[in-house]
Amino acid sequence: MNTVAQAAKRISEADNTLIVCHFAPDGDAIGSLLGLGLALREKGQRVTMMCADPIPVQYHYLPQWQAIATPQVDAAPTPEASDPVSLIVSLDCGDLARLGKAYDPESLKGVPIINIDHHATNVNFGEINWVDPTAAATAQMLVPLIRALKVPLTRDIATCLLTGILTDTLGFRTATTTPQVMATSIELMNTGASLTALTDQIFNHRPMETIRMWTMALQNLHLEGRILWSEITQRMRERVGYTQNGDAGLASFLSTANEADIAIVFDELGDGRVNVSMRASPGYDISKVAFRLGGGGHPQAAGCTLPRSLSAVKTQVLSLVQQAWNEQTREK
Ligand code: AMP
Ligand code: MN
Ligand code: MN
Repeated sequence: MNTVAQAAKRISEADNTLIVCHFAPDGDAIGSLLGLGLALREKGQRVTMMCADPIPVQYHYLPQWQAIATPQVDAAPTPEASDPVSLIVSLDCGDLARLGKAYDPESLKGVPIINIDHHATNVNFGEINWVDPTAAATAQMLVPLIRALKVPLTRDIATCLLTGILTDTLGFRTATTTPQVMATSIELMNTGASLTALTDQIFNHRPMETIRMWTMALQNLHLEGRILWSEITQRMRERVGYTQNGDAGLASFLSTANEADIAIVFDELGDGRVNVSMRASPGYDISKVAFRLGGGGHPQAAGCTLPRSLSAVKTQVLSLVQQAWNEQTREK
């Protein structure tokens, strides 16, 4: 039996499934969580969808986003306390730590995990590991899984899954956008997902605070060799009222500079940690540096979160990235 069939069999047989995705969720994490969750509900199965962080306002157009539970701070995330979880499905997440509070190792001890992901840096933490780094998004992988579960796609499921594909391919612009990605997306459109409406929701709307934050970050660019970087400090966040997770696409924007092969945004989180978002031009691979620093990602887009001061993180990361650039440029 292949991995998809194995995963489908285990999911079909489970009485109470907990589906989780990584914290600071993006469109692929949320779209995958909802897409599979809605499919299992169509099938009449009991399922809890959970994410450690709240769903960003930008994704509130998604059907049933309110059904995603957030674990209570400091409380064990027992979805239905009286009813034990029999299976965990982890989506779009490379390691257990990145599930954050959505995965409580104490209360979920011994519960089998099916790990479905497309990050090359995935550490295979599940009982079944279906990790396909050639997939553009986890949401893309769920289309054959839902087929194997014998659930017909609905417009709502298709909307969630196309959201995942669009977010991770930056609207079909990344090198991961293969003919297969297009074929899957056409299937989702034929089921009723609106490419126009989703593209507009995902890429054409942002809060004014985001633009103000970008304005500040763009005034403080540093080009060292062919590495372009900037930072989002707590002071900047407070000044413009920017409370969102992440850099709202700033690292991807910086990576468009002709003068840079690698772009980095250091984002001070306010809890003593710094999130590092990295982008590399084709021909460079930034995921290995992210992995060495305890994070992960893809060759062209990766990140990590480090529990140190902004200046310490900048020194460490910039030195490792410069070293990786030197090695990779020499190998060309
Ligand atoms: P971002 O820069 O946040 O858009 O993330 C780019 C890619 O790196 C995504 O595929 C993320 O899943 C991955 N990534 C970002 N931050 C981390 C982290 N702290 N740990 C593992 N993977 C990460
Ligand atoms: Mn993701
Ligand atoms: Mn993804």
